[in-house]
Amino acid sequence: MGKLYLVPTPIGNLGDISPRAAETLAAVDFIAAEDTRVTVKLLNHLGLKRPMVIYHRHNCAAAGPAILDRLLAGEDCALVTDAGTPAISDPGEDLVALCAQSGVPVESIPGPCALTVALSASGLPTARFVFEGFLPTNRKNRRLRLEALAEEERTVVLYEAPHKLRDTLADLADALGGERPVSVCRELTKLHEEIWRGTLGEARDRWAAQEPRGEFVLVIAGAPRRDEEAPDEEAALGRVAELRALGLPLKAAAAQAAVETGMKKRRLYELALGKK
Ligand code: SAM
Repeated sequence: MGKLYLVPTPIGNLGDISPRAAETLAAVDFIAAEDTRVTVKLLNHLGLKRPMVIYHRHNCAAAGPAILDRLLAGEDCALVTDAGTPAISDPGEDLVALCAQSGVPVESIPGPCALTVALSASGLPTARFVFEGFLPTNRKNRRLRLEALAEEERTVVLYEAPHKLRDTLADLADALGGERPVSVCRELTKLHEEIWRGTLGEARDRWAAQEPRGEFVLVIAGAPRRDEEAPDEEAALGRVAELRALGLPLKAAAAQAAVETGMKKRRLYELALGKK
């Protein structure tokens, strides 16, 4: 039985092809490529000439089983896409699933991926994040996904095509709020790489005024954690007044109301003093 190798390719900078990725491309029996014209440029850069088959979104239903047959017959295949890590937001995931179902070993070689490049440089929390790929274009599915994202507390990573960026930033600002921090990561690893940091509202306005060019990843701060939301000062002061009416001294009323509402005791006491 052969093996399927997932071989990541540069997302802009050809220097990012790793020695192991290049060795694998040289060693396999054939390469399954998303677009052979793109891959041939990489092979030329590496001084390689390898047999290739096409595997992309529009032929994967037929090409997948054909590649699987060759793997089952003992050939090794390297799967590559136009850029980045195969199977991340591309039909490579179907071929990996076919191999997994058929017991064909899959080896994934680490390398460039727009998701991790953007997230790591975003300046936003990385400990917990959710990768959403591309937002749905179908209106209803898009609205439902945006509603869910508005509540998402983890950092959100999205891919977007330049011609859809303006609509997406406007929809995100509407659904998640214009104040939500975002890092717009553009043309990563390329000459005009840019990591723009601001709010969703500012990003919407910036790219409304300037035509989006290049490739984009959006990294958006998660919703504030519910248990970390700022306490409602008016409600806390109302509670202090209630407790005072029950006969508690101001200091004790403020201390009790602070515990109940999550406010800082001293802050609430000072606020209440000001209102006395
Ligand atoms: N498998 C790829 C990967 O590992 O990143 C992603 C494939 S997905 C079809 C293509 C999307 O990745 C683009 O629309 C863009 O959102 C993002 N992308 C790819 N290269 C990029 C780059 N150099 N800078 C910013 N985003 C990029």
